[in-house]
Amino acid sequence: MIEGMIELNIAEWIDVVAVWNALLAPAHYVQESGRRLFWGFLLSALILASLVVTCQRRRFDLKGQLKALFNRRYWWQRSTAEDVGWLTANSLIRGLLLVPLLGSHLAATIVVGSALQTTFGDAPELNWSLFWIGAGYTLVFFVAEDFSRFALHRWMHVSPFLWRFHTVHHSATNLTPVTVHRVHPVEMSLYYLRGLMVFGLVSGVFLYLFGGQLHGWEILGVDCLGFLFNALGANLRHTPIWLTFGRFERWFISPAQHQIHHSAAVEHYDKNFGTCLAIWDRIGRSWLPARGQNVDKFGL
Ligand SMILES: [Zn+2]
Ligand SMILES: [Zn+2]
Repeated sequence: MIEGMIELNIAEWIDVVAVWNALLAPAHYVQESGRRLFWGFLLSALILASLVVTCQRRRFDLKGQLKALFNRRYWWQRSTAEDVGWLTANSLIRGLLLVPLLGSHLAATIVVGSALQTTFGDAPELNWSLFWIGAGYTLVFFVAEDFSRFALHRWMHVSPFLWRFHTVHHSATNLTPVTVHRVHPVEMSLYYLRGLMVFGLVSGVFLYLFGGQLHGWEILGVDCLGFLFNALGANLRHTPIWLTFGRFERWFISPAQHQIHHSAAVEHYDKNFGTCLAIWDRIGRSWLPARGQNVDKFGL
């Protein structure tokens, strides 16, 4: 009897710890280089924002910029409070449900690698140098990751059923870097599953082909292309700072192009679904450059 009580209490204690950890997880995002809200990426976005505003106004006004940055009216909005609410709910669902249920990225890689080994036997002999294995894996992973994000995002707009969930992200009327986490738990789960599948598939194939030689190019333990994307102002996608890439927008989606995606204007609906590469939007005829565009209002 007493033994049973102790077991029950320990089980409850473990759950409380898990809930507590999941609740606190977002607070650690600023320290994790794999997260867009990592302090280094926030700092680089801040520097880029300062440069953009200085170029727009043709003068550097530190006092004015600091005042705009710490403006209570920007941060203290219902829309931003809702962002934090969705972020917390998603962290709980991911930590308590998705990760324990779906397993780790490493497990998915081993499952795919083993399935290939069982089905096709030993991998063909490929004499790639470590340099080309790293370059190939980094590039294939980046393209697969970017395309799958585009495809899922587009699907969430095209399907009336999925659009109901995606409206949560588009209902933001005030864009701050936290808005990236303003997604319905169904959308977050779909993206989590997508990430697991892409990682498992790409890493599994490379593990099968190259075994222990498999490695990717990394910066601070994060894949280098994803790191560069975040370091080059990805946080400005969810801000009113109008950073465009000019002619490079044919290849890369700029923060201003994602702001167009959030625009409440009808002519901006269903434009620029992409995350990093612009090629998918150009093929799908949803690409719209920022030049000549103006976003007055964010939201639905
Ligand atoms: Zn969207
Ligand atoms: Zn967005």
